[in-house]
Amino acid sequence: IFAILLVFFSFVAFFISYFMSKRAMSPIIKSYMKQREFAADASHELRTPLSVILSSINALEMEKPLQEDEFSNSVLSNMKYEVKRMIKLVGDLLTLARSDAENTKLRKEVFDLHELSKKVVHSVETLADEKRITLKLNAPAKLFVYGNRARLDQLLYILLENAIKYSPEEAEVKLELTLKNEDKNKMLVILVEDQGIGIKPEERERIFERFYRTDKSRSKQLGGHGLGLAIAKWIVESHSGWIHVEGKSGKGSVFTIKIPQ
Ligand code: ADP
Repeated sequence: IFAILLVFFSFVAFFISYFMSKRAMSPIIKSYMKQREFAADASHELRTPLSVILSSINALEMEKPLQEDEFSNSVLSNMKYEVKRMIKLVGDLLTLARSDAENTKLRKEVFDLHELSKKVVHSVETLADEKRITLKLNAPAKLFVYGNRARLDQLLYILLENAIKYSPEEAEVKLELTLKNEDKNKMLVILVEDQGIGIKPEERERIFERFYRTDKSRSKQLGGHGLGLAIAKWIVESHSGWIHVEGKSGKGSVFTIKIPQ
C-alpha cells in the first residue's frame, strides 16, 4: 500500500509541476514573441520614411543654388551619410528579427557560387579602390553548390566589406572557395583572408554577437553597428554550417566557413 501511495503521489506531483511550469512559461514565451514581432514591425515601418528622406536629399542635391553653396552641400552630404547608415541598420535589424522567427526556412537551390562571388567581388571593388586594396578571388571555374543564393551573396558581401574596412591601404584581401571531401561528406569551404588590424583571441567568439564591436574598430571610427557578423553567423547556421575566425601569422584575420553539401 505504501509503495502504491508513493507512486500515486509522485505522479500527482509530476503533473502539478508540469502544468504549473507550462502556465508560468506561457507569458514569458508570449512576451518574447511580442517583442520579436515588435522589432520586425518597427524596422519594417522605419524603412519607408527613411527611403523618402533619402530621395528628398537626392532631389535637393540636384538643385543648382544648393549645389553652389558649400555649406548646404556639406550639410546635405552629412545627412545623406547618416540616412544611409540608418537604412543599413534598419535593414540589418529586420533581417535579424526575421531570422528569430522559428518558421524562417531558407529556400535552397543549386547554383554556381563562382559566378555569384564574381558579382559580389565586383560590388565591393569601389570600396577596395578607395584604399587601393587588391581583391583576389580563387575558385574552380564552375562551383555548383546547394544553398540560398541571396543569403550567400549577403554572407560574402559582409565578410569582404569587413576585410576591406579593417585593412590598411594597399593591402590584399583574398576570397577562396573550394569543395572538399571531409569524413565522406562534401563540404563547401569559404575562406576570407585579410592583412588588417586582426582580432584578439579573447574577442574571436564575441564578434559574432549582436552589436559587439572590438575596441580597436571603435577607436578607428569606421562606422558599422556590429550586426554584420551576427547576420553572417545566422546565414551559415541556417545552412547547417559553422563559421570561425583565426589570426594570421604576421597580420590580419582569416574567416573560415564550412557548409555541408
Ligand atoms: P561592424 O558593422 O562593426 O563591422 P560586424 O558584426 O560586421 O560589425 O563585426 C563586428 C566586429 O568584429 C567589428 O566591429 C570589428 O571589431 C570586428 N571585425 C569584423 N571583421 C573584422 C576583420 N576582418 N578584421 C578585424 N576586425 C574585424
